[in-house]
Amino acid sequence: MSRVYNFSAGPAVLPEEVLKTAADELVEYGTSGMSVMEMSHRSKDFEDILNTAEADLRELMGIPANYKVLFLQGGGNTQFAMVPMNLMKNRVADYILTGQWAKKAAKEAELYGKVNIIASSADKTFSYIPDVSDLPVSPDADYVYICQNNTIYGTTFKKLPDTKGKDLVSDISSMFLSEPMDVSKYGILWGGVQKNVGPAGVTIVIIREDLIREDVLPFTPTMLRYKTHADNNSLYNTPPCYNIYVCGLVFKWLKAMGGLTVMQQRNEKKAAILYDYLDRSNLFKGTVRKEDRSLMNVPFITGDEAIDKKFIAEATAAGFKNLKGHRTVGGMRASLYNAMPEEGVAKLVQFMEDFEKKL
Ligand SMILES: *Cc1c(COP(=O)(O)O)cnc(C)c1O
Repeated sequence: MSRVYNFSAGPAVLPEEVLKTAADELVEYGTSGMSVMEMSHRSKDFEDILNTAEADLRELMGIPANYKVLFLQGGGNTQFAMVPMNLMKNRVADYILTGQWAKKAAKEAELYGKVNIIASSADKTFSYIPDVSDLPVSPDADYVYICQNNTIYGTTFKKLPDTKGKDLVSDISSMFLSEPMDVSKYGILWGGVQKNVGPAGVTIVIIREDLIREDVLPFTPTMLRYKTHADNNSLYNTPPCYNIYVCGLVFKWLKAMGGLTVMQQRNEKKAAILYDYLDRSNLFKGTVRKEDRSLMNVPFITGDEAIDKKFIAEATAAGFKNLKGHRTVGGMRASLYNAMPEEGVAKLVQFMEDFEKKL
């Protein structure tokens, strides 16, 4: 077996310990005589897996009792629709545009109501987070929407917007469990797990109870109502059982690592190794305004496409995989999720330094 350093933005690296536990338990889970893949979602064993996963997530994030945790399907793109369908009572919402994912969310919301773009960083290819301290929040807005960590552009909100009393909805897909967050500041936090939490196929929604409404937009399908899933402990229909189980293993791993404060310290240290090098390199440079840099996704360029290409090819051959930047940004991007060891980042920087010297 030879595992590479996988810098993919998602699906992405998972902790090796988790994969080994999953492998050990693949054929028989505990003394159940079967794989988690073969279990009824109504069985006692699976119910324990689900409830333990939720309890561990609640403990890791300090989720207050008046928030529900939902394990859903359909990925991030389904939340782009579910959020407006469930929350757009006045059919008005405010969106902050900080990249492709926020843009897609806003575009989807336009199918259901009026969308006001109250801040944007589109003018500089989303390379920064706009000032959100005094926004023209619409008086009748049903919520304010952000994508808190921009996977493609590598920016992150270091301070949450002042929503002037409106509920904040945040897409945290690519920063989920990377650092402690104050859940009570949000109406809804949601993330696809395939970036920093687990295998693709699960979307976790953390929602304040009063936002789980009956009076959703009238055409909202049963499966797209938060209430359906909240009322049924995420077991209204068959959930992605195996993927939820793997997420649960990751939660246990995070707890054993010391929790989210420790993860944040580790992630800050890892990101600093790469950013410090980008700041002193004469060849590579980061593309994001310094104060808005993401700990999770680090885009960088040389300014010369041919050199970018050569670098990616040589890095790939040396075992540093998936460094190609998003097609809309070009260059490179290194995603440094929880499961990327510090050693992987240090070795990447060493490789970059050697590449720069040889060039
Ligand atoms: C990947 C990603 C999405 C889209 O997720 P899908 O599960 O592919 O629909 C949405 N938001 C962010 C921030 C992402 O990184």
